[in-house]
Amino acid sequence: MTKQEIFFDDIERMDAQDPLANKQKEFYLPDNKVYLDGNSLGPLPLVAKRRAKEVVDQQWGDDLITSWNRHQWIELPTSVGKKIASLIGANVKPESANQVICCDSVSVNIFKLLATALSINSDRHKILSQSDNFPTDLYMAQGLSQLLGNQRCELVAVDEASIESSIDDSIAVLLLTQINFRTGKVHDIKRITELAHQHGVLVIWDLAHSAGVIPIELDNWNVDFAVGCGYKYFNGGPGAPAFVYAAERHHANMQQPLSGWMGHQSPFEFNANYQSDAGIKQFLCGTPAVVSMSLLDAALDVFNDVTINQIREKSLALSDLFIRLVKQHTCLKSLQLITPLERNNRGSQLAFTHDQAYAICQALIAEGIIADFRAPNILRVGFSPLFLSFKDIYRSVETLNRIISEKIYENEAFQVRQAVT
Ligand SMILES: *Cc1c(COP(=O)(O)O)cnc(C)c1O
Repeated sequence: MTKQEIFFDDIERMDAQDPLANKQKEFYLPDNKVYLDGNSLGPLPLVAKRRAKEVVDQQWGDDLITSWNRHQWIELPTSVGKKIASLIGANVKPESANQVICCDSVSVNIFKLLATALSINSDRHKILSQSDNFPTDLYMAQGLSQLLGNQRCELVAVDEASIESSIDDSIAVLLLTQINFRTGKVHDIKRITELAHQHGVLVIWDLAHSAGVIPIELDNWNVDFAVGCGYKYFNGGPGAPAFVYAAERHHANMQQPLSGWMGHQSPFEFNANYQSDAGIKQFLCGTPAVVSMSLLDAALDVFNDVTINQIREKSLALSDLFIRLVKQHTCLKSLQLITPLERNNRGSQLAFTHDQAYAICQALIAEGIIADFRAPNILRVGFSPLFLSFKDIYRSVETLNRIISEKIYENEAFQVRQAVT
C-alpha cells in the first residue's frame, strides 16, 4: 500500500466518524464543487430556500400588509436576535434576555455603537482599533470622526502588537474584530475586555468572522457591545441583515444617533418627537428588510440540533487536515501560512501568501474549488463545518498541488482581475 492510500483511508474514517456529517444534506450545494468560502458568503440552506418561496408567494403575495401581524414580520428583528443570542452566549440570565437585535449591516451597526459608546464615555474621545482591522470598521470610525470633529472623536489605529499597551485611561472605546479577516488570528475577548475595563474603556467586538463557528460568551466575558454578520457562518444569504448586542447594564444610558421610527418606543403613535425605546429595540432604524431577515431566520434553524463546540471541533479538524496535507506535498512549500498554528489562536480559515495567489485562486475556482483571494497576495480558505467533509479538504489540496506543481496558474485566463476578488 502506498502512503497516499493509507491517508485516504484515514480521511474516509474521519468522515465516517464525523457527528456533523449528516448536516451537509440540509444545504443546497452545486454538484462537484468544494465551497471554501462559507466564511464570506454562506451557502443556501434548504430551509431558507423553502422560506423564500413562502415569504414571497404566500406572505407578501397573498397576505400582503396583513403579514406584519399575521406572520409576525414586526417581531422579526427581536425573534431573530434571540436565535442569534443563543449562539453567542448572550441573554444567558433571564433578567437580561433582550440584548441582541437583528438589523441593518455590520457597518451601520458599528456606527451606531461607536456613537453610543462615545456618548456613554463622554469625558473621553478616542477610539482605539487595529490598523489591519476589516477596513469598514475603520472607515465607520473615520466617518464618525468627520461628523463629530476630532475633539470629540479621534480614531487611533495601531498594529496588533501595540493594542494592549495602547489601552489606557484616555481611550473611550476599543473596537476590535475577534477573528482577523486576513490572517484568521483570534483575539482573546475575555482577557482584552477585562484589561479595557480596568482602564474604564468600553469595548465593541466585531464577530463577523466568528459568530456561528467558535464558542463565544458575550455575557460571561462582560462584553459591552458587539456586532456580527448574517451572511457568513449564519448562512442568511447575500446581504442578510447583521446584529447588535448591547449589554443590559448600558440600556439606561444608551442613545444611538440613527433615530429612525422603528427604534421609537411607540412607532405607531406617530409622534413628532423621537423617544427611543428603552431597550435593545432602539438600535432599529427603519423598516426591517423582511424578505432577507426571514431567510436568515430560517437559516438559523440549521443550528438547532448542533452545538458550537461540535462546530469548533470540526472546524479545527478540517484546518488541521488541510495544513497536514499541504505539508505533505513538497510542491506546496511556496505557500506561506500566515495563520497561527496554535489551535487557540486560529479561527476557521487559513491564509497563505504567494505572489501568484490571485491566479492560483482563479485556477482553483475553475477546478470547482471555491476559495478566495485577499489583496495583495493572500489565498484564503474558509472552513464552514456544517457542509464540508474531510474528503472535500483532501480533494482541495490535491487540486491545489496540481495547480502549483504543473504551473496551471500561469494560464492567461487566471491572471485577469475581476471586479469582486
Ligand atoms: C464581513 C465583515 C463586515 C461586513 O460589513 P457589512 O457592513 O455587513 O458589509 C464587517 N466587518 C468585518 C470584520 C467583516 O468580516
